[in-house]
Amino acid sequence: MTNDRVVKGSCICGAVRYKAEGPLRPIIACHCTECRKSTGNYFTAS
Ligand SMILES: [Zn+2]
Repeated sequence: MTNDRVVKGSCICGAVRYKAEGPLRPIIACHCTECRKSTGNYFTAS
């Protein structure tokens, strides 16, 4: 794995392109009652 954190993407036709640089946020996991209730498990988001 490289330290060069550049993420690129585009839609299939190529009309929309984006590039994101910098470290990405680590995945957040929430175990609170609300999230477990609404998802049926603990909630994760990136
Ligand atoms: Zn929560």
